[in-house]
Amino acid sequence: MRLTFYGGIKEIGGNKILLEDKKTVILLDFGKSYKEAGKYFEEFVNPRAVQGLKDYLELGLLPRKEGFYRQDLIKISGESELTLYEKPKIDAVILSHGHLDHAGYISFLNPEIPVFTAKETLAVLGAFYISRPKNLENEIIEISEREEADFKKRKKKKRAIITVEDQKPFFIKNLKITPIKVDHSVPGASMFLIESSIGSILYSGDFRLSEISEERKKEICSFLRKAKIKIFICEGTRIKEQIILREEKVRQDALEKIKEVKGLVVVDYSIGDVVRFKTLSAIARETKRFFALPYNYFNYLSFLKQNGINAEGFENVALYAKKKISLKKWEKDLIKNSKVVTSEDIAKDKKHYLLALNFYQIQELIDLKINEDCFYLRAITEPHSEEMEISEERFVNWIKHFKMQGLREEIIESGEKKSVFDRAHISGHISGKELAEFIEKIKPEAIIPIHTEFPEEFKNIYKNIIIAEKNETIKI
Ligand SMILES: [Zn+2]
Repeated sequence: MRLTFYGGIKEIGGNKILLEDKKTVILLDFGKSYKEAGKYFEEFVNPRAVQGLKDYLELGLLPRKEGFYRQDLIKISGESELTLYEKPKIDAVILSHGHLDHAGYISFLNPEIPVFTAKETLAVLGAFYISRPKNLENEIIEISEREEADFKKRKKKKRAIITVEDQKPFFIKNLKITPIKVDHSVPGASMFLIESSIGSILYSGDFRLSEISEERKKEICSFLRKAKIKIFICEGTRIKEQIILREEKVRQDALEKIKEVKGLVVVDYSIGDVVRFKTLSAIARETKRFFALPYNYFNYLSFLKQNGINAEGFENVALYAKKKISLKKWEKDLIKNSKVVTSEDIAKDKKHYLLALNFYQIQELIDLKINEDCFYLRAITEPHSEEMEISEERFVNWIKHFKMQGLREEIIESGEKKSVFDRAHISGHISGKELAEFIEKIKPEAIIPIHTEFPEEFKNIYKNIIIAEKNETIKI
């Protein structure tokens, strides 16, 4: 049994793990590494789509492997980069969830390689495919063959995505694999248990347990304990953190504040997070407000709903129809089929709205006649990169400009005062404390930490830790 780690090592995200065993080759996720991509690229400096895989291969963002990638991209990259081939060298991709740091680079893989994932994840990817810009990194669901330079003449090809069900085993050639539904900040997140020649391998994907019922937690733990896990490939985003937070606390804190607000409440949350959507929608109902959502947020939720996922919390939802020079077809369709509100509607009746606007839509505040009675709630994670810090500063300036509520003063290291957002958020990742308890219950023989900047920290919570290096193959 061989495991090769092309990403997810000493970084949060970018998971790309190759498992070879019993004459079967599978990939566990094939995500974009924001950290690696951010070393070279920023807004206005992007990989050149016209060169196919070339820039990605040169900079090590994609592993230089034969038999992985789309033949149309190999052709335009030049065959000195990679050679064309008869059949792909991978039997399948097992996709844990729809976040781009796990799914994004599937766009580059040969579409004949089937992707196995939960039905919720397929719906999440389908929703994002509609609203995200049509570029090379948004071809997970469907590819648009690049041999033809003219965009309109390009052949489209659907990727083979096969949906799998919780605790129903399936086979990829000689490997038996069982998905286990877990919870994360996007629907559909699953772990996968793989029956290899050396025993069971468990791949965690991203997960948290704090929002799962005690009964379900027990069920998962006893199932995994019985599986006698040989190796647990485990995420450790929050391995250093001890605090256990619950979504209920987010709801209570946010409600407490919003109850007192006389003007408009504007909120920012992560588009994929339906748990947060439900929390905010419930708060809007309790405070007699409509919950107005921008096109992409509204599209995401209605697409999930059409696919039978998360049908709750829509009673008081409206589409915020931002003014645009031209509308895409999917935006026009949303307007036709939904309750629509405009900036004028909201400006006239501020106390009856909760409006979702993130930083990229912040200019809308200008049209909403914002004043000091209005409140901005950031229900999203803290900035965790230099670029995010810079955006955060600009963001704070907007809030200050309109004298909105929602900021507090903090003393920074230099002793100066700084305005920061009063956040209402919990992470989609398990804390180190809960992870230690979980591992103690399932008792794997060894753990390979991934999706963490601090793999060594795992040594403080468990005995047998294998530290993998990027691009290293571990033979067991
Ligand atoms: Zn994730």
